[in-house]
Amino acid sequence: MIELVSAQRCIACDKCVEVCPTDVFERGPDGIPLLVRQEDCQTCFLCEANCPVDALFVSPLTRPLPQDPAVRDEAGLVRRGLLGSYRRDIGWGEGRTPGALRAVGPALGPAAPPIIS
Ligand code: SF4
Ligand code: SF4
Repeated sequence: MIELVSAQRCIACDKCVEVCPTDVFERGPDGIPLLVRQEDCQTCFLCEANCPVDALFVSPLTRPLPQDPAVRDEAGLVRRGLLGSYRRDIGWGEGRTPGALRAVGPALGPAAPPIIS
């Protein structure tokens, strides 16, 4: 579930507002998106994946984190590498390796010969 928009990082590009399938965000007066319908979040990570400046944190849980502000402490999230971590892990963003190229799986064998009838 979406938990944090970093006002320090956000460049007010509206990408997250546009891609959210359940309309969780609304553009705030200063351009920073507000989480006006957090309860509608589907934990799809689309907003975090599309934020060009890694300003969003979507928790992997499908329910809100406890109200304790410490769990949304931005400095703590940065320290733990969690702000924008989904985008980083899928390799979106300049200079990153697309996640598909780092995927672990069985090595592909040689191509099968063409079937000639
Ligand atoms: S995780 Fe998905 S549903 Fe939730 S705010 Fe982001 S885009 Fe919207
Ligand atoms: S996508 Fe990122 S930079 Fe753009 S408005 Fe949303 S939080 Fe701000």
